[in-house]
Amino acid sequence: MLPLNDPQLLKQQIFVNGQWRDADSKDTLAIDNPATASKICDIASAGLSDTQLAITSAHQALQSWRNTTASYRAEILKRWHDLILENINDLAAILSAEQGKPLAEAKGEIRYGASYLEWFAEEAKRLYGDVIPSKQGSQRLLTIKQPIGVVAAITPWNFPNAMITRKVAPALAAGCTMIVKPAEATPLSALALAELAQRAGLPNGVLSVIVGSDAIAIGKALTDSPTVTKLSFTGSTKVGKLLIKQCADTVKKVSMELGGNAPFIVFDDADIDQAVQGAIASKFRNAGQTCVCANRFLIHQDVYQEFTDKFVAAAQKLILGNGADTGVTLGPLINADAVKDVHTMVCDAAKKGASRRLGGQPSSLGTNFYPPTILTNISANMRVFNEEIFGPVAPIIAFETEQQALQLANATQAGLAAYLYTQNYARIWRFSEDLECGMVGINEGIISSEVAPFGGVKQSGNGREGSKYGLDDYTEIKYLCMGGI
Ligand code: NAP
Repeated sequence: MLPLNDPQLLKQQIFVNGQWRDADSKDTLAIDNPATASKICDIASAGLSDTQLAITSAHQALQSWRNTTASYRAEILKRWHDLILENINDLAAILSAEQGKPLAEAKGEIRYGASYLEWFAEEAKRLYGDVIPSKQGSQRLLTIKQPIGVVAAITPWNFPNAMITRKVAPALAAGCTMIVKPAEATPLSALALAELAQRAGLPNGVLSVIVGSDAIAIGKALTDSPTVTKLSFTGSTKVGKLLIKQCADTVKKVSMELGGNAPFIVFDDADIDQAVQGAIASKFRNAGQTCVCANRFLIHQDVYQEFTDKFVAAAQKLILGNGADTGVTLGPLINADAVKDVHTMVCDAAKKGASRRLGGQPSSLGTNFYPPTILTNISANMRVFNEEIFGPVAPIIAFETEQQALQLANATQAGLAAYLYTQNYARIWRFSEDLECGMVGINEGIISSEVAPFGGVKQSGNGREGSKYGLDDYTEIKYLCMGGI
């Protein structure tokens, strides 16, 4: 890992009730760098009793935190935001080392992650209720919005910083307290964030970070607890479904940000160079390991050849390597199993008739690397069409009519993002409205922003993160009926 200006940001203990501590069991787990396959450090590996302590301390901290003013909470969130930006080089070095993405991308994620703290610091002050016209002259009706309580967050490894701030910022802004369980592969960014939150003045117990190798046990402790009133999860659809079931017994409110299978549709009237630029950004960011990644390229038959040739030429310019090295634009995948999964999907497609226009064989750089890969002659029975690839593989399929493109785009149980390239404004409206997804990029390949609602429909989940709607997931509406007036 690149040397840190502030080595105190590399934490090796869990953070509970404002204290840095070892796990009760004294267990540890090793954190590896996916680019070099070498160990970064060992960290404490929490279990059941540590999780219970985090729940208890979040509950104890709730009463005073929820009664603070929005401006007070906003001040702390803003200080935290500023500290993150002041330490961006160190945070990026940690993030790139544990996750693999190039340093420039890691900095982009950290800026993006910090933007949620600033946004919700401001939104906290606008948590308005309503006054409702009453049907009775003697009554006055109103609503207030209140924090939902103790929230548990379980987050994935692909965005180890931003997937945490996207949940913590609205939760804390609303007056909730939170326990975060980051992915086992990438806990160092979460712990560094907690260190900066403490420096920003966050009171003890308001935020705890529990890291452990037994995700099932920690998840069960969080979902079984009646004290935890809400679970916010980002991760795979498979685990999301399991957690929804686990939350049923205590009737928790859940927010689910799950897997995607985004179509990237290019019509014959599109600006092809713009579409290629968007395709590169959407497909190869984070080596294809993003939930909103273009997963299936649907290209009108009249521009299929031109788009494919230009896309291959642009993808050939990507530089695969260690994200810490200058000039690298595509890092490793998270581990060797991920490479195996991706390659198995490519082989399945090849067996069923797909052609490898680019890449498609494991890289000689090491077991965690997979090269940019472009496949043509794709059909709907291939795994790359039906499943989230989560790697730098772009399957291209030609279509003839708008109706056919829509049918192909919606032929999935996922419904997170979709991308549409056309200059026809009537088609933009028509097609965007008919797409079964939560977000549409129109002549744009990168759509995430703290000011806009991020989330999916169908089996990609529920709830929205960011935007003016982002606080809703962390608040309850209480109705007050005042009589005798
Ligand atoms: P994952 O395997 O579902 O893991 C996500 C988190 O859940 C990790 O912290 C993991 O812990 C934990 N976990 C796994 N099994 C669990 C269980 N039985 N009980 C409780 N917790 C459990 O997903 P991933 O591989 O980390 O992330 C990739 C997935 O996330 C992709 O499908 C991607 O599309 C999705 N994602 C969605 C969004 C969105 O906003 N919609 C954003 C980013 C990623 P361990 O890592 O410690 O096992």
